[in-house]
Amino acid sequence: MNAQEVIGLEQNHVLGVYGRAPFVLARGEGSTLYDTEGRAYLDCVAGIAVNALGYQDVGVAEAIGESLASGMLHVSNLYHTAPHAQLAQLLCATSFADKVHFCNSGAEANEGAFKFARRYGRAHGRDEKVEILAFTNAFHGRTMGALAATPRPKYQDPFKPLMPGVRFAEFNNLASARAQMDETICAIVVEPIQGEGGIHAATPGFLAGLRALANQYDALLIYDEVQCGVGRTGTLWAHQGYCKADDTCACDRGCQYEPDILTAAKPLAAGLPIGAILMRQRVADTIHKGDHGSTFAGGLLVTHVAQHVVSRVAQPEFLAAVESKGRLLRDLLEEINSPHVLEIRGRGLMVGLELDVDTAEVIRCGYEQGLILVNAGPNVLRLVPPLVMTEGEIHEVAARLYSVLHAL
Ligand SMILES: *Cc1c(COP(=O)(O)O)cnc(C)c1O
Repeated sequence: MNAQEVIGLEQNHVLGVYGRAPFVLARGEGSTLYDTEGRAYLDCVAGIAVNALGYQDVGVAEAIGESLASGMLHVSNLYHTAPHAQLAQLLCATSFADKVHFCNSGAEANEGAFKFARRYGRAHGRDEKVEILAFTNAFHGRTMGALAATPRPKYQDPFKPLMPGVRFAEFNNLASARAQMDETICAIVVEPIQGEGGIHAATPGFLAGLRALANQYDALLIYDEVQCGVGRTGTLWAHQGYCKADDTCACDRGCQYEPDILTAAKPLAAGLPIGAILMRQRVADTIHKGDHGSTFAGGLLVTHVAQHVVSRVAQPEFLAAVESKGRLLRDLLEEINSPHVLEIRGRGLMVGLELDVDTAEVIRCGYEQGLILVNAGPNVLRLVPPLVMTEGEIHEVAARLYSVLHAL
């Protein structure tokens, strides 16, 4: 089938909720994707911050092979399996968490986190302790609960009524958060670095302040690290970068940047669908058998592959490379010196360029230059390449972006 035939078939038979790029992808290698016409593209999207290890990774292929050798793709959560247990152990060993629950996506991880928070609230307060505080510009997913915490009229309005019990404060404004707090709040949910909202990092004072507010009101602090987690920002978990950068953080008396629950998904299993909810013991203590579950969640294949991804990404050399490549990328972007670039933001390989023009035209020109780009809101160009992208490729990305931005 040629590209036109594939695009025609999709237009005829696939529900049109996505605006797709005008080519058909056929294969990938490293940080490069090739379309059916043989054109090569440097990939700065990585399946939206999913393909941390790029394409055709030998270790991922081996992990898939090892898993298939068991002959079991699925057995149900009614039975013990080793990969599931080992991934949970690894996630706990690399974080604040004591317990992990698996699911199948980022939205589902947030749904589960909200359910656990309400369970915790009822166990620790009265029946009114069920409210969730979320923030402006947030993105937590498209299912009914996650959508209720994603305050964008375009996403929410056609699907009202939404899940009740969610209120909002202004991101990075602690006074605004404090004004919304009372004993009915069971959880505060925040992305340490907002992704879809345009690559905005929480300030250290904001995160530490939310931690203190959560403590004061016996509410849970939930970090949505679906996009910024798993090495993307140069530490395994994005919030760990805040602690690392703050000499005054008294971690031995309880790190002031640690959450009670963390949700992860996108890059966790190299492109296979998985979500994870990491939590402290005091959250786990309030959840009982039968409270939550999912048929596919935490299956043998996804958890085995995720173990491979997390053990690779968690290596200090790997994370240090993400940090230095992120710095290189931001330095090169600064040098582009285009009047259309208003601001360059981000951490590690999660970078946003705020432009004074609509990103659609920039993305279209990128395709012509062999560059795959995505936006985060109408005016922010987002760069979230595979974490294995080489320094040479980063130079090439910057050179191509230079051409695109200077041709506008
Ligand atoms: C992508 C994303 C989600 C939703 O994840 P899905 O797997 O698409 O459901 C939730 N939170 C954040 C921060 C995300 O970037």
